[in-house]
Amino acid sequence: MKYISTRGGISPISFSDAIMMGLATDGGLIIPEKIPDVTDKLGSWSALAYPDLAREILSIFVGDDIPPEDLTRIVQTSYATFSHPETVPLVDIGDIHILELFHGPSLAFKDIALQFLGNLFEYILDHRHGHLNILGATSGDTGSAAIYGVRGKKNMKIFILHPFQRVSPVQERQMTTVLDENVFNIAIEGSFDDGQRIIKSIFNDLDFKDQYHLGAVNSVNWARVAAQVVYYFYAALRVTATTSTEKVRVCVPTGNFGNVFAGYIALKMGAPISKLILATNENQILSRFFNSGVYRRDEVYATISPSMDIQVASNFERYLYYRVGENAPTLTSMMEMFADTGELKLTNCTGTTGIDDQFIAGSSNTAETLQTIRSLFNDSGYLSDPHTAVGISVARKHLKKDEPTVCLATAHPAKFDGAIERALGKNEAHHPSIDKLKTLPTRCVVLPATEEAIREHMVYNI
Ligand SMILES: *Cc1c(COP(=O)(O)O)cnc(C)c1O
Repeated sequence: MKYISTRGGISPISFSDAIMMGLATDGGLIIPEKIPDVTDKLGSWSALAYPDLAREILSIFVGDDIPPEDLTRIVQTSYATFSHPETVPLVDIGDIHILELFHGPSLAFKDIALQFLGNLFEYILDHRHGHLNILGATSGDTGSAAIYGVRGKKNMKIFILHPFQRVSPVQERQMTTVLDENVFNIAIEGSFDDGQRIIKSIFNDLDFKDQYHLGAVNSVNWARVAAQVVYYFYAALRVTATTSTEKVRVCVPTGNFGNVFAGYIALKMGAPISKLILATNENQILSRFFNSGVYRRDEVYATISPSMDIQVASNFERYLYYRVGENAPTLTSMMEMFADTGELKLTNCTGTTGIDDQFIAGSSNTAETLQTIRSLFNDSGYLSDPHTAVGISVARKHLKKDEPTVCLATAHPAKFDGAIERALGKNEAHHPSIDKLKTLPTRCVVLPATEEAIREHMVYNI
C-alpha cells in the first residue's frame, strides 16, 4: 500500500516513509492511496485475540514494507505492556457496551497507538541506521503516552514541553517520574499555547529540523490512525457476535478528531458499524459541524475533560478530504479559507439527509457529565472517567432498540480523580500505578518559555 497527501503535493510513498514523514511535506495530511475493503475477512477475524487482530489489520496498512514475522513481533511487543489479559476488555452495563481502552502504561487510549508507534520508529531507525529526536508539547495526556512509547528505545530521544504547574499533579508525575536517559521533560514558564507556538516555530526551521533529525508523534501520524482502526473492528465483531446483531453504533468522546476518524476509516473498510456517535464537551466545534455543516473556530473552554478542550481538530482535514470526493484542490482551498477566516461550510452533501448519515453528534456539558458519572456509579457500580462520561451521556440520548451501542472508555478514572470527587463527593478512583507515582523520584528542568531556551537545551542534549 502507498500513501499520498490530502493536498495532492507528494508522489506515492511507502508505509515507512509515511510514518517517518509525519505531517506531509506539502502541509497536508498523509492518507492511503485507497482505503482497503475487508468485508470478506470479517468471518475469519471475529474470534481473534486483540494482538492477532491488530497484526492482521496493520499488515494491510504496512503492505510489503515490513516482513510479516517482524510486524508480528512489533505488534506483540506493543500490546504486551497492557495490564489486562484481553488488552481492551468489553464491559456490559445494561444496554451499553463499554470498550476499555485504558489498560496501557499511561492509562489513556493514546497508548494503543503510541506503544505501537514507539516500536515502529525503533524498528525503522534500526534498519535505516538513523536516529530521531522527538519534540512535542502537551497539555497532559499525550505527553505521558508519548514518553511511555519511546522510553528506553534505541536511537531515539524525546523532548516534551509541558506548562509549569499547569498540568494536573498526576499528569505531571506520570511524565517526570520517567528517568530513562533518552527522556527529557521540560516545564516551561508559560502556557500550553506557548509550548505549541515554540515547537511549531522550531519545526518550521527546516535546516534545524534536518540537522537535528527532529520528529513528531502528534495525532496526525498515520500509524496512530491505523493502530486505532483495530479496536473498532474488535468491538464491532465481538458485540455483534455476542448479541446476534448485524451492526453496532460506536460512541466516541472527541477532541482532535483522531480517535473517531479511525472509526470512520474502519466503517469505510467494512466494519459492522452503523453509525458513529460523536460526543464533545463544551468545546463544540465538531458536534456543531455535524449538525449544521459549519466548521467554525471558537475560544477554548476549560472543562473537567481537559483532553477534549480543543477547538481546531487536526485530523478533521482527513475527513473533509473524503467528503469533498478526494479532491485535493477543493480541500486545499477549503483549508486555506479556514486558516484565513476561521470558518468553513460544507455544501453539496449529495446522497445524505443530514451533514453525514454515518454520524450522530451531540455534546454533554459539565453538569450532565457529572450526573452521568454519578448515576452510572450508583446504578451499576461502574466508575467512568469524565471523558468517557461525556460519551456515555451523549450515547444515552441516541440508544436504538435492537442495535447495540459501544461506548469507548478513553481514560482510567484515577487519572481524573478531581472530577470523580466532584461527581461523587469522595474520591472512589484508584489505580496502583498512580498511587505508586507519589513516592517515585522525578526529573524535569524548568526553562523560560522562549524558543531560544528550548533550542539550546535540545542542542546540548542531542
Ligand atoms: C486525547 C483524549 C481524547 C480525545 O481524543 P481525540 O483523538 O483527540 O479526539 C479523549 N479522551 C482522553 C482521555 C484523551 O486522552
